[in-house]
Amino acid sequence: MNVLIVEDERSLAKELAFFLYQQNFQCEVARTGHEASELLAVNTYDFVLLDLGLPDCDGLDLLTEAKAQEITAAIIVLTARGEVADRIRGLDLGADDYLAKPFSLPELLSRMHAITRRRFGVAKPLIQFGEFALDLQNRQLLHQGQEVTLSVKEFDLLSYLVLHKNRVLTRLQLTEHIWGNLPEDGYESNYIDAHIKNLRKKLTRYSELPWLETVRGLGYRFSL
Ligand code: CA
Repeated sequence: MNVLIVEDERSLAKELAFFLYQQNFQCEVARTGHEASELLAVNTYDFVLLDLGLPDCDGLDLLTEAKAQEITAAIIVLTARGEVADRIRGLDLGADDYLAKPFSLPELLSRMHAITRRRFGVAKPLIQFGEFALDLQNRQLLHQGQEVTLSVKEFDLLSYLVLHKNRVLTRLQLTEHIWGNLPEDGYESNYIDAHIKNLRKKLTRYSELPWLETVRGLGYRFSL
């Protein structure tokens, strides 16, 4: 999943990006409201971490703007302002969660996991399909209780498809959310195909894989 970090404090932005990168998120950093607006206009993100005290605007205005543009990212407001009024305003404006600085990185991560579960209606820790079970929390794919070895990106690809089940995801969408936003000339459509092919090969060693379909001319769909 990919994350836009909107934070003018360099050291915090760097720390967040490094931590999230280790947790297999792709991150981009915007240091001003203007930079964030530009990135939000051209890219799609799964999460936006939004500092309210930006040098050129109020983060709450950016939140209002993002909501007006119907961006689909989950927005977590980060702020030094502890005031209840700001917190309420942020949530009223459509933020998905709120963290007051200083916050712990593991807490941020567990809130991100909670938002993912809420958004995708994943009630149970394991998502079952046939003899497979996908454990999002521990980043494992199990077949009859035994771990199936997948690369980091294969796991990300599979879980992204499973979370967005019954929807066609284009190759470009998959690339953006799993590898991050590439420069336009860096995008190759057969890149995803190669990874899907490997994933299929690994999983069909265990069982047929009727859930994962190639949708001609469009992309891929995981039907559950
Ligand atoms: Ca700030």
